[in-house]
Amino acid sequence: MAIETRPRNLLGMTRRELEDFSRAAGEPPYRGRQLYHGLYARRVKDFAALTDLDRKFRQSLAERSIIRYPAIERAFASGDRSVRYLLSLEDGEKVEAVFMPDEARTTLCISSQAGCAVDCKFCFTGLMGLKRNLTAGEMAGQVLTLLEASGLRGRVNVVFMGMGEPLLNYAEVVKAVEILADPEGVAIPARRITVSTAGIVPRIYDLARERVRPRLAVSLNASTDEERTALMPINRKYPLSELTKACREYRLPARERLTFEYVLLAGVNDSDDDARRVAELVEGIRAKINLIPYNSGPDLPYRAPPLERVLAFQQILRERRVPAFIRISRGRDVMGACGQLSLAGNQEAEVRS
Ligand code: SAH
Ligand code: SF4
Repeated sequence: MAIETRPRNLLGMTRRELEDFSRAAGEPPYRGRQLYHGLYARRVKDFAALTDLDRKFRQSLAERSIIRYPAIERAFASGDRSVRYLLSLEDGEKVEAVFMPDEARTTLCISSQAGCAVDCKFCFTGLMGLKRNLTAGEMAGQVLTLLEASGLRGRVNVVFMGMGEPLLNYAEVVKAVEILADPEGVAIPARRITVSTAGIVPRIYDLARERVRPRLAVSLNASTDEERTALMPINRKYPLSELTKACREYRLPARERLTFEYVLLAGVNDSDDDARRVAELVEGIRAKINLIPYNSGPDLPYRAPPLERVLAFQQILRERRVPAFIRISRGRDVMGACGQLSLAGNQEAEVRS
């Protein structure tokens, strides 16, 4: 009986893995390094274009393997020039990624999981539950797909702030960061890559010890345990005292700050007292706070506070010498903003775009 093997997608393999792969194919390991360079630095998708490899190897590669990026199912262009992409993975699973151009630098927001299990009460991705973890290739692939679609070659930031909780898919996220940050690979410096977490404390300690370390952003979103547990059930497992301890111990490169994200929900976590308590919580941490007025949508009751409230909250933090910035999310008109990625509303968003 013939055994049918599916061609192997090489995207997501590290330099070491490609060296081993070449060795297994009877080729010297440096062929693997050439392949690595072709995949991530030259971003070649067709083995025929890898002319630095000999023809026989190219042919055998083409027979047994493929280079496949996540495919663009739909693109939703926002009035603010950001684009939300609905991407389809090899098994048909869908995720979303967002392209946000700016004069100085373009930011690519990518997903680490299809859906999310963390169940934050205000988040649309949370409503989906977890479908599955993404592989390193599927994460690096989102970056490559968006770069290819935009024709962009310039400077980019990558943020793991799309669907999913990156630190609950730890090994693959670290591997994706390694590939993206490698100067011989996609070559986006690690300081331009940010991983955002709802606060998976043991993995924050692990991340602190990684060789290639992205920037860390922690979603604080509340100022007391009671308030935070109501919004983010994960706080029961990793309460504020443990979370802030891990953040306090997270060593930062000179001049770098740890980012705390704080989604402002009208009447829920936006009082003057909240702001004062937030300043106390981050005491002793070289931190900055990004205040994100809530992005609303169907099925969830939360609203953004009025602008005066947002400004007052910022002012209280600043008076206490905590750098605080108001981040108006982009792509809100196409459900592409923070927390709005949910695969839902794709129909309506398309009509509006
Ligand atoms: N799971 C990770 C990263 C993805 S969520 C995390 O929670 O950090 C990225 C950010 O979007 C988080 O700071 C989250 O608090 C915020 N967010 C979620 N839903 C939102 C919404 N509807 N409006 C504004 N921000 C939201
Ligand atoms: Fe998951 Fe982050 Fe949404 Fe919470 S805010 S449900 S951790 S994606």
